[in-house]
Amino acid sequence: MVIIIKKETPEAAIRQLLAQLAALHVKGGCVAGEEAILLPLVGETWRLDPNALQALPFVREVRRLTPPYRLAGRAAHPADTVVAAGDARIGGTFCFIAGPCAVESAPQIAAVARSVKAAGAQVLRGGVFKPRTSPYTFQGLGAAGIELLVQAGRDAGLPVITEITDAAQLPLLEDVDILQVGARNMQNYALLKALGQLRRPVLLKRGLSATVEDLLLAAEYLLAGGNEQVILCERGVHSGLSAARAALDVSSIPVLKRATHLPVLVDPSHAAGRSELVLPLALAAAAAGADGLMVEVHDRPACALSDGGQSLTCRQFRELSAAVTALLPYAWRPDTF
Ligand code: PEP
Ligand code: MN
Repeated sequence: MVIIIKKETPEAAIRQLLAQLAALHVKGGCVAGEEAILLPLVGETWRLDPNALQALPFVREVRRLTPPYRLAGRAAHPADTVVAAGDARIGGTFCFIAGPCAVESAPQIAAVARSVKAAGAQVLRGGVFKPRTSPYTFQGLGAAGIELLVQAGRDAGLPVITEITDAAQLPLLEDVDILQVGARNMQNYALLKALGQLRRPVLLKRGLSATVEDLLLAAEYLLAGGNEQVILCERGVHSGLSAARAALDVSSIPVLKRATHLPVLVDPSHAAGRSELVLPLALAAAAAGADGLMVEVHDRPACALSDGGQSLTCRQFRELSAAVTALLPYAWRPDTF
């Protein structure tokens, strides 16, 4: 980090600032230029808030040279993180997570589990605590749904993922392999801190209007707590301009892959909002370097209690998985230019 201060700043003020920074494990130098004085800083600069420094009366500008997400960044951890859940490996090789938006009944989740497993999915998804926009729509089966999801996963030989919306649900979710933090909770820092204390995989979805840096700093909460099993998921942002449900930010995929060692998945279903857009978005995500996809699949989308319009049939998922797999040899990777 470099702080640029006004040329007329008294020496005593500079000395005092450098002493304050030293207490935060940041060492600073002082270079007097023609028009300004530069304070180059090294050490634990991620602890510094540029806005707070900017508020000092003699500071002209503060420039970060390294990202504030120290643990999520590639610099501290160049090798890709691979998250293990049962037999699934997320990161490294391409992975499919598939299942219904919500667990609705034992036959429904069992039928979807069997068919997505046969189509190559490595993880079964199914929401039980559903954060719905309207309080009058299906809210999920809650605790009763967890058992159905876990059982269907066991029967099909798949680890399971479900969304947690409140840390108080943790005791109910002990048999769930991966905990999902939904887009609406990406900045629920109390929830992130609680999940940071676990040693269990967490899939963190990008907030509806969060920047890539916001997402990486949310991941930093999990990592700073000591939980290293973090998976990121791009799911589209609300721009107000997209013809789809959300604007899938394809460019965030290579940006994230360069910035972080964490696996980057893409959920084309919630970006699409309509089933016919899921395949093109899935292909785009895979081509842009995603480490995997999370896709909503229902045995009877027309009867789904939530997100039926964007859910693929089991057959459509089989076709999607084949088409995406065929494209993978041509996909961009961070080691290509
Ligand atoms: C989901 O995956 O079930 C979901 C609600 O997605 P999002 O948080 O991305 O809206
Ligand atoms: Mn959904």
